[in-house]
Amino acid sequence: MTSHSEPDSNIVLYDTMQRQKVPFTPTTPGHVGMYLCGPTVYSDAHLGHARKEVAFDVIRRAFMHFGYAVRYVANITDVGHLQDDSDDGEDKIAKRAALERLEPMEVADKYFWSFMDDMAALNILRPSINPRATGHITEQIALIEELIERGHAYESGGSVYFDVRSWPDYGKLSGRKLDDQEEGTREAVRGDKHDARDFALWKNAEGGHLMRWPSPWGIGFPGWHIECSAMSLKYLGEGFDIHGGGLDLEFPHHEAEIAQAEAAGHAFARYWMHNNMLTIGGEKMSKSKGNFTTIADVLSRHDPMVVRFLLVSSHYRSITEFSDAAFESAKNGYRRLSESLHEIERRLSDAPDGEDATLDRKIETHVQAFEAAMRDDFNTPKAVAALFGLSGDMNSALAAGKVGRATLERARDAFHTLGGDVLGLFAGGGAAQEDNSEVVGTLMQLVLKARQNYRLNKQYAESDELRDTLAQVGVTVEDTKDGPRWRR
Ligand SMILES: [Zn+2]
Repeated sequence: MTSHSEPDSNIVLYDTMQRQKVPFTPTTPGHVGMYLCGPTVYSDAHLGHARKEVAFDVIRRAFMHFGYAVRYVANITDVGHLQDDSDDGEDKIAKRAALERLEPMEVADKYFWSFMDDMAALNILRPSINPRATGHITEQIALIEELIERGHAYESGGSVYFDVRSWPDYGKLSGRKLDDQEEGTREAVRGDKHDARDFALWKNAEGGHLMRWPSPWGIGFPGWHIECSAMSLKYLGEGFDIHGGGLDLEFPHHEAEIAQAEAAGHAFARYWMHNNMLTIGGEKMSKSKGNFTTIADVLSRHDPMVVRFLLVSSHYRSITEFSDAAFESAKNGYRRLSESLHEIERRLSDAPDGEDATLDRKIETHVQAFEAAMRDDFNTPKAVAALFGLSGDMNSALAAGKVGRATLERARDAFHTLGGDVLGLFAGGGAAQEDNSEVVGTLMQLVLKARQNYRLNKQYAESDELRDTLAQVGVTVEDTKDGPRWRR
């Protein structure tokens, strides 16, 4: 494994803005600033959140592995926004508050903490900064004032709107031309907007809106998009490195974020990264299709590490399929890897000193393949394939006989560094499994001793019964020159 005293300068990533893979160069050498759009905390997080959070957690971990210091900012939207781009519709947090008879901030906190629990279970590293929209009203108002001053926003009836026609760049991320956007929206220049495409920066809190703050334009609350421009610039600075989010946020949310920041004279994110959606049974997950699944629900049925393994087994830019078959195959794949690792750790206890040069070279080849895959736009399926290569070579070598301690340690470290530190696997449930595997190991020694005794006493019926029972739970016993050996 390379020692990373110097950060790796060969990382290539797909930039949504440039629509191609480009070399990554940080604003500040050795440092990466990342901003990720977080959840609106008004209900339990769903699988789409898990997909996004794991995708960007792995990207963050890869940068760390390649020697970068990462400042990872992920916001929490705890202001109740309106369901359709700040126009009409209901405020999701207020709606839930009424439903659950809670204060709006009680709703936000309840789901904020359940989100944090879900993230911890999935072994997502905590953000460096987790800014909440309600804690940054001042910054949002200041940014809106800059936009009004520069003629890119106007106040109307106690609300403030971004003047889309004043900013020709609007649409550059998603490739939507203003004329295209106009179609179908021309009918509705409602209320106090000058143009149907203008979006709210600040909304008048009329009609008993529960979350409200004083502003230069009266009592109100911020629009849907302004918090991300204000908080990313505050914590990551001008021209920060990477802005991430789900592909579903590309338009209008990210487009609006860019317009708000750049029209106010700020250099915004230099790279845009988007994860693709996930499907369940081939269909996009949605409440109306009845295939909507919360993270908590999935974690009650599956090992979090298997969920994580399923997610990293597909590239963040491809569509991930969640199905029973996908879970089954993820479960088997993850078991193969963790059993390989456990076998290596088990065999370390009686490993001979020394190393195996041929096997060492193979390990190094897999490590390099893993790192090359991650350098290439974080290609996790290829990286996972390299782990399987490592696992296969180690399994064959261990089946053939004893392997030198130094080589075993090298393989173990590769599993921990690549699978553990970078992909975030072998954690949480992994520790419990390890405890478990120690108990199982001890019990299996007893079982094998009993089997030996049956055979010595020619109690073949009992010996066969034992073998058959073990086979039923997936354990096979082999007789080797070093004595019986079992595996699942
Ligand atoms: Zn955002």
